[in-house]
Amino acid sequence: MGGIILGIESTAHTFSFGCVSTDGELFPSFSSLFRPEEGGIHPREAADHHSESTANLLNQLSSNKDFSWESIAAVAFSQGPGLGPCLRVGASVARTLATRLSVPLIGVNHCVAHIEVGRNQTGCIDPVLLYVSGGNTQVIARADGRYRVLGETLDIGIGNMLDKFARSQGMPFPGGPKIEKLSRAYANSGPQSLDDAYLPYGVHGMDLAFSGMLTSATQKVSEGSPLEQICWSLQEHSFATCVEVAERALAHTGKTELLLGGGVACNERLRQMSQIMCEERGAACYWPDKQFCIDNGTMIAELGRRMLECGIETELMDSAIDPSLRTDNTTVVWQ
Ligand code: AMP
Ligand code: MG
Repeated sequence: MGGIILGIESTAHTFSFGCVSTDGELFPSFSSLFRPEEGGIHPREAADHHSESTANLLNQLSSNKDFSWESIAAVAFSQGPGLGPCLRVGASVARTLATRLSVPLIGVNHCVAHIEVGRNQTGCIDPVLLYVSGGNTQVIARADGRYRVLGETLDIGIGNMLDKFARSQGMPFPGGPKIEKLSRAYANSGPQSLDDAYLPYGVHGMDLAFSGMLTSATQKVSEGSPLEQICWSLQEHSFATCVEVAERALAHTGKTELLLGGGVACNERLRQMSQIMCEERGAACYWPDKQFCIDNGTMIAELGRRMLECGIETELMDSAIDPSLRTDNTTVVWQ
């Protein structure tokens, strides 16, 4: 690696360090995922996990044959949105490294980083982003120097919804991949049927809602519906709402590219449904490698690189975390 930007991700369950070269080559991240023994993610426990994994992750990063501390040109970190205690760990490590190495510090918007890593990896130019992760579900597009939120969840993120349903059925975090497996087993087992498996469909204008779907799915299983069929139905309903809003965003903005991002974008069925919608309207559909869909340090580095190119740096006194940072708070000056 020549000059590199180091990126640090710590918004929620994942603590991750990743690099991008100053000319935009992406390198795999070194990550540690917090998996609660029971219940959901407790912010304080996740933050403890992050502090305890710091030394190990930095050792992995620095023992990589291509890495040298001297080549670091800047340190970028997730400034928000996310869980306060978790963000604080990443920010502290970033401030320490930037100060020690005497390089610029760059606080970045986590949601915008999902877009920029996707644009880098797939080559799409001006997409509508369907951002589907644990805590966030948004449909985003660039207009007038910002990434605007055209629609979003009114209650919980789609990934949290899948994780909660999985947890109610005794499947540990992260539940999304396990639901995908059971859904596939059902879809491959014979004719698919929505009989007795309809769920409330949560599209409200350009916005989405998932909690009604979750409650109803849980109820159906407790009343004896087969788990595999309900997993399948939950995917079909929740993905259809996302794809519907994404399609309307393409229609309203006149854009012709759809980009998927966030951990739920690892799902093959969501990719297939998005691809079909795009083909039907003559648009192109893109998704980055799975390693860049889930939260990762490399995407933070990539947005840091774009900002650094435009001369944007974060002074220490401005480097406080912002747990409720919005996608459209960040001015986008890069191409
Ligand atoms: P993120 O918050 O972007 O790191 O994404 C994490 C979320 O992605 C969790 O809620 C996971 O359950 C979900 N997820 C990861 N892989 C899949 C998959 N194959 N299908 C559905 N959800 C997934
Ligand atoms: Mg994310």
